[in-house]
Amino acid sequence: MEKWLEGTVVEKRHWSDKLYSLRLRAPVDAFTAGQFTRLALEIDGERVARPYSFVNPPQDDMLEVHFNEVENGPLSPRLAALEPGDRVWVSARANGFFTLDQLPQSENLWMIATGTALGVYLSILRTERSWQRFRQIVLVHNVRYRDQLSYGEEIVDLKQRYGARFRYLPITSREPVDGALQGRILAALEDGRLEKQAEVVLSPEKSHVMLCGNMDMIREVSAALDARGMRKHRKKEPGHYTTEKYH
Ligand SMILES: Cc1cc2nc3c(=O)[nH]c(=O)nc-3n(C[C@H](O)[C@H](O)[C@H](O)COP(=O)(O)OP(=O)(O)OC[C@H]3O[C@@H](n4cnc5c(N)ncnc54)[C@H](O)[C@@H]3O)c2cc1C
Repeated sequence: MEKWLEGTVVEKRHWSDKLYSLRLRAPVDAFTAGQFTRLALEIDGERVARPYSFVNPPQDDMLEVHFNEVENGPLSPRLAALEPGDRVWVSARANGFFTLDQLPQSENLWMIATGTALGVYLSILRTERSWQRFRQIVLVHNVRYRDQLSYGEEIVDLKQRYGARFRYLPITSREPVDGALQGRILAALEDGRLEKQAEVVLSPEKSHVMLCGNMDMIREVSAALDARGMRKHRKKEPGHYTTEKYH
């Protein structure tokens, strides 16, 4: 049975209209970067729970989640209404296999996110293990508008720490932003802009690709990777890309 802990909201970050992060304290079990917890609230006498990836690396005391308020969603608007001091149920044990120890070795690692899926990569990128395993890491973040390009400070910090080994590629689909590619990930991959901007090759010989976020992006980009001779990675049949679907 799932063990629930009472967590406390310590800080709320409101990035844009419907985009939030919560920092929480709860004595959860040790977890691996890339895993998700479950958060829950009592709604009309029922405990309503949903999975959320940790944004914080495992060594941090404070937990953090990054999420969208989905209109008419049962839980996310209520999470968005929480304020510091409020309580939220947090699952004691994290879950999931979107972690470095599940990936085969490669020269470079591409981390591709839509929206709030950025968070899971920030947890992984802030572990030393990721920098021991890969020579270069490219973080691709696709959002609609400029103000959804969250976690700028954390990204600057990673750039300062890892220099040219770390490449950050924002992509906005509904408004042009200086320094960002415009459009969608699939188009930028297919016409070569992603590799050109990153100055990092994306190939079956040198790369592993992590895809996280919405189902359409994962489906389209997986098909484009298949067309490049890449295969979905499975434990028994090593491949070149790994996926985690949020919705
Ligand atoms: C393994 C896993 C990890 C997840 N981690 C995160 C996370 O870190 N951050 C996060 O924001 N969400 C994450 N999600 C989605 C999250 O669990 C909820 O589904 C979401 O917050 C909406 O909850 P809800 O109860 O309001 O609505 P739900 O009943 O869960 O969903 C209502 C509708 O919202 C859509 N939806 C779900 N998630 C999103 C989203 N993120 N953006 C836009 N539309 C969405 C669904 O397609 C559905 O149609 C994760 C899901 C899974 C399976």
